[in-house]
Amino acid sequence: MVFIVDHFFMATDMYKRLPIESNDMYLYLDTTNEPTTAVVDDYVRAIIAHTTSVPGAIIGIGGGSVMDVAKAVAVVLTNGGSAQDYQGWNLVKSPAAYKIGIPTIAGTGSEVSRTTVLTGTHKKQGINSDYSLFNQIVLDPELLATVPTLQRFYTGMDCYIHCVEAISGTFLNEFSKAFAQQALKLCDNVFLDGGSNADLMVASYMGGCSIVYSEVGVCHALSYGISYAFKVHHGLANCLVFNHLDEYYPEYVSQFKVMLKQNNITLPSHLFGTIDDATMEKMIDMTLLMEKPLHNALGANWKTEFTRDVIRLLYNKITEQPL
Ligand code: NAD
Ligand code: ZN
Repeated sequence: MVFIVDHFFMATDMYKRLPIESNDMYLYLDTTNEPTTAVVDDYVRAIIAHTTSVPGAIIGIGGGSVMDVAKAVAVVLTNGGSAQDYQGWNLVKSPAAYKIGIPTIAGTGSEVSRTTVLTGTHKKQGINSDYSLFNQIVLDPELLATVPTLQRFYTGMDCYIHCVEAISGTFLNEFSKAFAQQALKLCDNVFLDGGSNADLMVASYMGGCSIVYSEVGVCHALSYGISYAFKVHHGLANCLVFNHLDEYYPEYVSQFKVMLKQNNITLPSHLFGTIDDATMEKMIDMTLLMEKPLHNALGANWKTEFTRDVIRLLYNKITEQPL
């Protein structure tokens, strides 16, 4: 077994609670920054150096960052090459190693999604593939008890935004709709009515299911550029973007603002400074890579509507660029 565990748990008794045997590997992942393809490749090399056979399971214990690394390691182990080779849609050819996800933050839906989001040398993009799905997951809300309030909110809003983008999109079908509706109710309950971590964990799972049957949308297409250029974590990047998307998701953006207020959250401002032209163009390139989410959000003719100029204006607003 290969356990990949968030570095937060170094200071806890997690190691003692797991049934680790002598030939197993127990690896901590530093999640200060979002996961990279290089980290995945390093883990794969370390596992191959440790054993000549495919491990019984790759077990990820942590938030979206750890779960994504565990999924990607399982994919690259059996497919060879580098994680970068598989960033995109349906590029994985062979089944992955058996993989188990144990989330310790709720919201990303990575525990159930068919993607594993990684930052490479040129882009942040997911390995979107049927082989990226976990074989097994364990949902235990007690593991969320130590998540700091801000992080709980930002990652929780990732779930809320997944559902908004699914339910407002053109790819919507009955599965996706049913999961998104229920997860949105749970999010309202958690962030407006004192709902529990168990509610949030189920919301994350259902939000992830909703995305499996549809796609994300405008917020994710823009937030990847922000995370890539400024190393802002996904949940916060989404919140910073979503706050300015009244034009695309009006009623949900209003509701998001109520949630911010009710949870006493003030989004950080002035994170970005003045953005140079090269960085801005790179961010726009990254957004335009998100073809499926943009097709979902805006329809098949999205390219005529969502031009570089429109994206630049949105980024200027989100990052508070001087006029
Ligand atoms: P995270 O995994 O990046 O962790 C955020 C912080 O929380 C870290 O500092 C970590 O140490 C800490 N932490 C984790 N568990 C904790 C616990 N129980 N108690 C205290 N602290 C804890 O956060 P996240 O928001 O869950 O994941 C973000 C990542 O997920 C991004 O890389 C994003 O791109 C990815 N993502 C993936 C998908 C997918 O479908 N694969 C979907 C959305 C987001
Ligand atoms: Zn997300």
